[in-house]
Amino acid sequence: MNIVRSYLCPVNNILDLKPVLHGPSKNFFITTHHKPDGDAMGSSLGLYHYLKKLGHQPLVVTPNDYGSFLYFLPEEKSVVQYETNPDTALEILKNCDYIFCLDFNRLSRINELGDAVRAAQQPKIMIDHHLEPENFAQFQLHDTKAAATAELVFRMMVEMGDLHLMDSEIGTCLYTGIMTDTGSFRFASTSAEIHRTIAFLKESGVDHVKIHEAINDSWSFRRLQFMGYILSNKLKYLPEKKTAYITITAQELLDYEVQTGDTEGLVNYALSIEGVKFAALIVDRTVMVKLSFRSKGKIPANEFSSNNFQGGGHLNAAGGQSSDSLEVTEKRFLEALEQFYPQILNDEKA
Ligand code: 5GP
Ligand code: MN
Repeated sequence: MNIVRSYLCPVNNILDLKPVLHGPSKNFFITTHHKPDGDAMGSSLGLYHYLKKLGHQPLVVTPNDYGSFLYFLPEEKSVVQYETNPDTALEILKNCDYIFCLDFNRLSRINELGDAVRAAQQPKIMIDHHLEPENFAQFQLHDTKAAATAELVFRMMVEMGDLHLMDSEIGTCLYTGIMTDTGSFRFASTSAEIHRTIAFLKESGVDHVKIHEAINDSWSFRRLQFMGYILSNKLKYLPEKKTAYITITAQELLDYEVQTGDTEGLVNYALSIEGVKFAALIVDRTVMVKLSFRSKGKIPANEFSSNNFQGGGHLNAAGGQSSDSLEVTEKRFLEALEQFYPQILNDEKA
């Protein structure tokens, strides 16, 4: 299979790093965004295993915790969380030679850790696929057409001529990132290239059944009951606007002992109603109200989010926040939708 090919890569000077990667052992600090998802953890740990194989000493530091369905990732236990272990995290940062920033492109996305990373003197390397990057890194592999940051880590290995180092540990992490960010290979971002990459990972020993089971079949009974409650009681359907949305109160999060990661994917249920083109999940996280948006076709969820909720993201998957109460945020959402829904209906005709 011809896996080495020229990729369309808008901002890419990652090859300048080749002498470092192929040189003497160095310490690498790898970090990723707030509340890391499957791609954030998969790309970071995939890079971790790749750097280890090159003889380096990497460590992954996350701003905070992530869903327990990601605990199966190889060497997940080595990950340091800044929120619970700030001193260790800052020590690792102080002692590193290079800083990798994965799956985010604005230092504000890693909360307080972002200030420390910004102040750090070591060279920074950004690998990311989100829109509108901040220019903070000397080395970049940035492509908004990439389906996942894990795809970019794979591409980096290709460009470095290191694909022969691929093994089941690196592959399991990269597969997880690609699988979760493509909605199990169903979103429009799933290119033929992605399928070729996945074929290569499979040939490198990745057990895809184990990964899908770990991600999809590891729900606690309580989480499933929470989902049932939400779908029965909290899903609002506005057929005339081809929109559905869910609000969750802080009390409901407490009542169902909701853990980090438990609300992931809920917004997709709202989008799965026949005819629905735009969906939102609005959650009272106490410190702020967090909003997630999903859309179909060319409906710009990211524009809706940046115009109304200080957010952003991709065309079909975006997020934002509000410092108002849940009730006021819901009201603001409905007001914004009043302006936005002609665009939703219009996309239908296109
Ligand atoms: P999710 O709804 O899964 O939290 O996020 C979906 C997408 O929106 C992700 O690509 C994420 O990077 C982006 N996103 C989520 N929250 C925010 C936010 O507060 N600000 C910005 N700029 N992007 C966000
Ligand atoms: Mn991603």
